[in-house]
Amino acid sequence: MSSRPHVGVIGAGLSGLRCADLLIRNGVRVTILEARDRIGGRVHQGEIGGYPIDLGPNWIHGSGENPIMDIAEATKTIFHEPEGSNMIASREGHFFSEEIANKVSEFVWTTIGEAFEYSNAHADSISPEKSLLDFFMEKVQQTGFSEEDKKMCLDACKLWGAYVGDKIDRQSLKFFSLEECIDGTNYFVAGTYKHILAHVAKAAVSHADIKLNTPIVCIEAPQRDDSQSLNQQVTVSTATGGSYTFDEVVVTCPLGWLKQNTNAFVPSLPDRLLQAINNISYGRLEKVIVSFPRAFWHDATSSIDGSEKPKHPVFAQFLEPSYTDVPQGIEWNQECLSLASFPEQHAQPTLLFYTYGPSGAHIVNQIADLDRSSAEYRTTLLEFAEPFYSRLPGYDPSSPDCVPTDVFGSCWQKDPYAGNGSYCNFQVGLTQADKDIEALRACPGVGERRGLWFAGEHTAPFVALGTTTGAYWSGERVAAQVCEKLALGKAGTGELKGDSLPSGRKSSL
Ligand SMILES: Cc1cc2nc3c(=O)[nH]c(=O)nc-3n(C[C@H](O)[C@H](O)[C@H](O)COP(=O)(O)OP(=O)(O)OC[C@H]3O[C@@H](n4cnc5c(N)ncnc54)[C@H](O)[C@@H]3O)c2cc1C
Repeated sequence: MSSRPHVGVIGAGLSGLRCADLLIRNGVRVTILEARDRIGGRVHQGEIGGYPIDLGPNWIHGSGENPIMDIAEATKTIFHEPEGSNMIASREGHFFSEEIANKVSEFVWTTIGEAFEYSNAHADSISPEKSLLDFFMEKVQQTGFSEEDKKMCLDACKLWGAYVGDKIDRQSLKFFSLEECIDGTNYFVAGTYKHILAHVAKAAVSHADIKLNTPIVCIEAPQRDDSQSLNQQVTVSTATGGSYTFDEVVVTCPLGWLKQNTNAFVPSLPDRLLQAINNISYGRLEKVIVSFPRAFWHDATSSIDGSEKPKHPVFAQFLEPSYTDVPQGIEWNQECLSLASFPEQHAQPTLLFYTYGPSGAHIVNQIADLDRSSAEYRTTLLEFAEPFYSRLPGYDPSSPDCVPTDVFGSCWQKDPYAGNGSYCNFQVGLTQADKDIEALRACPGVGERRGLWFAGEHTAPFVALGTTTGAYWSGERVAAQVCEKLALGKAGTGELKGDSLPSGRKSSL
């Protein structure tokens, strides 16, 4: 090759930034085309009640071989395993005793472990229609618990919707194993993903041409025959009428975006890839964040139901409340995480609610068009959150400590550049989700044949689908494939030139 190859990367999320990083290190000229006015994609921080907080991811899933852990360590990012008591409130809004809460939690987590094992071992024979909830229902029948306890356990199991990003009665059991993460502890990134993002973005920010506010609407990548090699370029067009040509193009737009924009590709993508894009679903996880002058629940020993409450609650779960009006026909189990238990300088008097599926969608629909500084925005979100935080120990409606200073609700479902949702999800009905993911990663007829490559969390190794680690790894994989094709570095053997991970742990390509 006589001249330096020029690669276009669409999207400046973790996958695009990591891909750009490795391409740059291998001598490639990189241009990143990003629709938003910032980098990071779903990794993004805001300030709520004067405290910085992640509005997208805030967990590192798995402390095992995980490059995001390495980067967190290298950037001195504070992460921690939330420790303290978990509380579960009944449908009537009363907290169960610690003993009952532990019994329920143990059932949920043991059954989740069994579901992963079962899904791994019997994927071929499990009916595509069988859901994670079906599995929970079978297991609870085998416990010998009272009918009341069984109901309570099932209510608590439903909160697993916050992990998979949608209701668990639509979560495939056959492919539940694809939700399994890297081994080890899950850490909450108390110091936010800010420095992790800056670290991953460093090479791209310094050496790539990053064009912000540049939404791509069309990608023309004709099939190449062997004689044409790199002479035939890929052309991408922007929403504002601009166009760019590249030797290779890496598309990192979220799966939700791909679903809605398959006609952006000219000529059409191969049928197998279109099927895969259509088959895998896209989750709906959202956050509601409420900040207070003081974490009134953190040290409270006052009781609501006559028994002394544990100090330092970390997770509080609220089972399908019957004591307050809830939207008709929508599962309204909720869970919140106290950020007051963070290491000292990162502790916040803040509650983080995870909402998912229809309940998340309901809240988003209520607030999406409201101005964040408006009274209606605040009232709408507090109408959602107050029935829950008002049950926490230490709550006193007459105390100024219990009046929120700030409230925020995420709206990823209204964000086309996040694919109008959160991350990939494996719903009942799927028959070959693993093969679909393989097709998303490297479908015959794209890649080498068209100079068109796909990265992003939905193309990650199975153990990291839907995560920041997966996004990062997917960028590495595509960088290696492109480098191999362009005969650069040692990318083809998995040893990328100049690839030095902070603590020397090996990354998996
Ligand atoms: C609420 C929420 C909570 C989450 N929690 C966790 C967690 O705790 N831990 C975890 O590991 N993961 C979590 N995730 C998932 C994690 O955020 C993603 O897996 C990861 O950030 C995806 O990175 P990516 O590069 O694949 O995609 P993105 O970060 O979405 O990057 C894609 C980029 O492409 C850009 N783009 C889109 N369309 C166009 C276009 N047409 N033209 C140009 N640019 C375009 C976007 O603006 C974006 O910058 C969460 C996600 C959400 C939404």
